Amino acid sequence: MKHNPLHSARPNILALEPYSTARDEYTGGEITAWIDANESPFNNGLNRYPDPRHIHLKKLIASLKGVRPEQVFIGGSGSDEAIDIVYRTFCEPAKDNVVSIAPSYGVYKVSADVNNVEFRSVLLNPDFTLDTDRLLEACDSNTKVIWICSPNNPTGNAFPISQILEIADKFSGIVAVDEAYTDFSSEPSMLKYIDSHPNIIVLQTFSKAWGLASLRVGMAFATAEIAEIFGKVKYPYNLNGPTQIEIAHRINESISKKVSDIIGMRNQMASELKRCKNVEEVFPSDANFLLIRVKDADAMYNHLIKGGVIVRNRTSQPLCHNCLRITIGTQEENDLTLKLFNSYE
Ligand SMILES: *Cc1c(COP(=O)(O)O)cnc(C)c1O
Repeated sequence: MKHNPLHSARPNILALEPYSTARDEYTGGEITAWIDANESPFNNGLNRYPDPRHIHLKKLIASLKGVRPEQVFIGGSGSDEAIDIVYRTFCEPAKDNVVSIAPSYGVYKVSADVNNVEFRSVLLNPDFTLDTDRLLEACDSNTKVIWICSPNNPTGNAFPISQILEIADKFSGIVAVDEAYTDFSSEPSMLKYIDSHPNIIVLQTFSKAWGLASLRVGMAFATAEIAEIFGKVKYPYNLNGPTQIEIAHRINESISKKVSDIIGMRNQMASELKRCKNVEEVFPSDANFLLIRVKDADAMYNHLIKGGVIVRNRTSQPLCHNCLRITIGTQEENDLTLKLFNSYE
């Protein structure tokens, strides 16, 4: 067993005395008058502070994901909050650095810049596969985190679990695996490795397969020790009450039919785009979107807009020259998009 990954956390964070809310301090039995938190006494459904420790929701999420409640962190600004808390916990500003694959999700770099942490990116291979040796060579003794988005945004492919485990075995800092699209993937989640590999943190979200982007709820799964520190670093009431209630309801719904419908439409869309003369390449996808290469991405992008369809132009991203990223929509939206691709002259 390797050294405890918590030793690479910032000393001020390890020493942190967290803010103690009124709701934290009293956890005993029946109370008639809650007059400890300066709330309004008049019940309008929203007058009470919510549970700052998300105890009920953590239990529900833990049983859904097959982990223990102590291994769960919930963010109320989506997984963007979980990304930021990784920086604030592990990276000393103006000293430490992180390493990420490129191209990948833009928030890793923005959050590094906000936290004044050096951001190093390592290009994927031209076919978007991962070169683990080059990734590890970019690390030095001040590298605290390696970011791996799998399935990766915007390329759409998932990396083999064996490669991510190899990185976690060879690197002594945190390996943060962003699995926002894992429900659409043929590659299994890394969740079952957080016990055997205590330096792995898995990020997931309710924004994609769950169809709840508007609620802004993201999750991080890690050792109980790391999740506990995240609980101290977060804003005390980072997840509002209505959102906690809504997620607790929605988590009972099954998403498997919607996920398999999207995967079916994705595969159908991929094969139809491959037959389209205006499309040069359709990259394999383990997500709810397709990355494609066309002859002139800017021109195709404008052509689609004229037809009322907006896709994401990724042509300026590394390795993505003339690439467009297309989210799988409803059948009608996909049909319209295909029609426009075929009508481009
Ligand atoms: C969409 C997405 C997320 C989700 O972000 P939220 O803040 O949870 O909505 C996270 N990571 C990646 C790579 C994404 O594409």
